[in-house]
Order: sequence, then C-alpha cells, then structure tokens
Amino acid sequence: MGKKIINLSESISLMLVVFALSAMMSSCGSPKVEVEPFSDSVERDIEILSSDEFEGRAPATPGGIRARDYIRERFTEIGLKPGNGDSFLQAVPLVEVDGSDFSPLRIDGSGFSLSFDYLDDMIIGSYRLEDRIDIDGSEMVFVGYGVVAPEYGWNDYEGIDVEGKTVVILVNDPGFATGDDEIFTGRAMTYYGRWTYKFEEAARQGATAALIVHQTEPASYGWDVVRNSWSGTQYGVVTNGNIDKLPAEGWIQEPVAERIFSEAGLDFHEAAAAAASREFRAIALGTTASMSFNNSFKHSECHNVIGYIEGADYPEETVIYMAHWDHLGMVETESGVDIYNGAVDNATGVAALFAIAERFMAGEAPGRSVVFMAVTAEESGLLGSRFYSENPLFPIETTVAGINMDGLNVYGPTHDVISVGYGFSELEEYLKRHAADQSRVVNPNPYPERGYYYRSDHFNMARMGVPMLYTNGGKDFIGKDEEYTRKVEADWAARYHMPTDVIHDMWNFDGIHQDLWLFYNIGKEIANSDSFPNWVEGNEFRAVRDVTQNLRRR
Ligand SMILES: [Zn+2]
Repeated sequence: MGKKIINLSESISLMLVVFALSAMMSSCGSPKVEVEPFSDSVERDIEILSSDEFEGRAPATPGGIRARDYIRERFTEIGLKPGNGDSFLQAVPLVEVDGSDFSPLRIDGSGFSLSFDYLDDMIIGSYRLEDRIDIDGSEMVFVGYGVVAPEYGWNDYEGIDVEGKTVVILVNDPGFATGDDEIFTGRAMTYYGRWTYKFEEAARQGATAALIVHQTEPASYGWDVVRNSWSGTQYGVVTNGNIDKLPAEGWIQEPVAERIFSEAGLDFHEAAAAAASREFRAIALGTTASMSFNNSFKHSECHNVIGYIEGADYPEETVIYMAHWDHLGMVETESGVDIYNGAVDNATGVAALFAIAERFMAGEAPGRSVVFMAVTAEESGLLGSRFYSENPLFPIETTVAGINMDGLNVYGPTHDVISVGYGFSELEEYLKRHAADQSRVVNPNPYPERGYYYRSDHFNMARMGVPMLYTNGGKDFIGKDEEYTRKVEADWAARYHMPTDVIHDMWNFDGIHQDLWLFYNIGKEIANSDSFPNWVEGNEFRAVRDVTQNLRRR
C-alpha cells in the first residue's frame, strides 16, 4: 500500500531545509525558534492517507475500508494493544435515512388554517426507524430557547407538559440574544445553543415534534445552509433502535414563525425577547401542527479504529488522543471524478495519532493507559465519536481527559495557539504551561458565538463529562507578517471541504511538528499524574463530570 510515494520523506526533508533557510532569511527581528522534528513518520502518513488510493475516505466505501485497514495496520506495526478485545475495530451501525412525500406543514388555530411548503418555508426529518411519520393536530408550545440548564438557573420547560406536543424553539442561547455576560456566557455559544441539544432536550421532554425557528445571525448561517444540509440523504447512528429520538425534528423560516404567532394573537419578536429573561414561561400557542412524510432506511457499518498503550500503574485510567479518519469521498463529474482527499481534514490528525503513539511506545510506559482513537463518520455529523461516547470501550468515569486533533496547522510554526473552548476546563492550564515552554501564548477562538467547540468529535466526549482539549493552529506565524496570515486564511477557506484539500506549495510541516510536541507533552504529563482535571465551575459539562467522578474509586 502506498508504494508510489516511498521517497516522499526525502523531498519533504529537502522542503524543510529550504523552508528553514528562507525562514532564517526573512525573520527580521522576530526571535528565532527552532522546531525540533517530532516524528519521522508523520509526513509520509499524511501523504499516504490523503492519496487517491483512499478515494476520499468515505465510510463504508472501498476507499474508506482501505483507509480503515491502513490505520489498523499502522496501529499493529506501532505495537498498540487492540482497544476492543482482540480487535482494533469498533463497529458503528450507520443508518442512511431518505425522506419522501413531505406534506406541507399545516397549522390550525381558531378560525384560521395556514400551510407552509417543504424546503422553502420549513424542513423536517426523523431518525426514528419508522417508515411513516404522521403528525396530526399536535398542540404547539413556544418553549423559548428550549433549554434546561441547572448551572445557569434556567428551565424553559418548567411547569409545562409537552408530551405529544410540537415545541417551537429559538436558535442559540439567551446569553447570545442579550449579549449579557451574566446570562449563560454572553455572546459565546454554549452547548445549549446548539440545535443538536435542543432536539435532544425536546425528546427527553416527550415532545412529538420540535421546530427550530431559523434566524441568520444567531444561527451564524443562512436558510440555504439549513435547507441543503437537511434535505437529501441524512446519516445517523443507531443506538437502542433510536426510540429516544424525536418523531419529527425540523426548522421553520423566521417569517413562518412571525405568521403563526401573529395569527395566534402574539408578536413573535416580543415573545422571543421575553424568552431571553429568566422569568420566561413557555407559551401554549393555541394552534396545532400537522405534517407527514415517508422514510426509507439503508443500514451499513463502518468502524472506529482504537488501540492503546497499557498504563504501568493505573491501567484502568485513560488519556485519549482522537482524530476522525473519514472525509467526504469522491463524486463523479463530467470529466471524471473529484476526490476529496482531505489532507488537512483529517489526514493530518490521523497521522498525528500514529506519531504520538510511536513516541509513547519509544519511551517508558506511562502510568495511565493512553488510548488512540481514529473515529469514523465525523463528516456525517460526528457519528463515530457519538457512538463511542454512548458505547465506550474504556469506562467514562476513569477516562481522565483527551485531546482531539482535527485539521492540524500546515502553514508553518506559530507564536500562538488558538484554544477552541477557551477557559472551559482545567486542561487549559496544561495547555498554557506547555505552550509557554515553546514560547507560545494561548488565545481564545475569535468567534466564540459560532460554537466551534461543539462541532468536532471531542464534543461527544465532553457531553459525557470528559474534559477535552481542542486547539486550532495559530495565527501569528513565526517570521511572517499579517499579510501571510490573511493569505493562509484565504487559502484554507478556499480548500475547506473541497477536492483541493491536498498537500500543496504553501505546506510547511514545522507547524505540525510544533503542535505534536505540545499535544504529546500535555498527554504525557496527564498520563503520568494522578490528577483528574475537571470543567471550570459553571461550565455546562461540569455537572455530568461531577457525577462520573463520584463513581470512580481513586
Ligand atoms: Zn474534520
């Protein structure tokens, strides 16, 4: 496998030498920082994983299966123990759901009946394994942000029974709406602002359907994004037959909500403003919702690949490194096929798993076990990590902490590190200390309102209470000016989720080596300590961590 690129490391070392020279020449005034190579395999592994041979690594495709097998071979070669009994594979039951025959959404009230069209006005779907969803005259309740958050003193479902009802929910969270730092975390999005959470909570409350009102600013994307990502084939995992999912989950356009509210004798914007206050109570709209559609299902299986190094002292306690191995596959075009090689996203993260595992294997056994997890189906909605978090191979209560690597920095070493989820957990102290050892500073993600922390695999572990670090390269490139940073951002924006996410001229592996040292040193320190880091007081994942921490013995 991958024979054609066997001499790549030579050309890369040459590239590094050239880069080092040019960096020295251009580094007028900036302190000269040598990046010691972390690994002699990472560059070759990125090249192999992003090669056409793997056809864009879509799960459950021939190319995806070859990628999975390559990861398993590398784990074996490195000498990791299989994470799942005698196997490195954890089967993830995927389901592809195709909806059809969507009826309009009909809203009935006293003396009026409204009808809204699928796609233009609303979008709806279901992960229930049921062939037909038929909702007939379900009472509607406006539940504000649809949030139950004891740590923020918030409960939008207090005093109201929504069993069998259709709840109407606002996007984001009350802190965003008010901009008040005293409410939730102000403009920065919390987990409660994510639509995934809102549907889960509505399901826990026994609702039949949930409709989120789309608003561009708090959602941070337009209706076309909702429409495109919710129509066509949807992917999910099957856990417990999916009986805990809502029968129907969907979105409505803001003008649709305005219309429904006004027919019901309410002002949508007044109601929405009221929902941002702690005194808000859910409002029965006096209307009913009706809609129906058919579902067909295709079941398939793909795999998380999981290996570990057994800890010498406390083997049952684990530190996790994770990275998703899947990407978007390939599509046929008029002239042939476009392969989504996903070199940055996320050949870099998987290759980093191997590199870190190799370095741990080369040294003394760590006190705690170190788990290396290449998860699948991230691009379809964080499904492999979700399945793992709900079906963990190592107990959650003794999972000490983790680092997720999704899209490493390929544009050269930096003076800074961006922490996505800045200030969330005590892991940040480790991050700051080890970054400082590299003469680097840790900065927050500049767009906390976009909720990036909730958009990659570590989030599924966080949801279970495990503190997880997720960093995002840096912006202050060593020996480069702001113009270069802008060039980097434009380059990445043009390649993100495109067939052009390949290794190219701007790549400089030194940034990866720099971050690998950082991730390795943090993980090593935790693996050799007896501390159980937690989320900071008031963080939304703290309560569940406190519960799991009461379950462990040490
Ligand atoms: Zn990714």
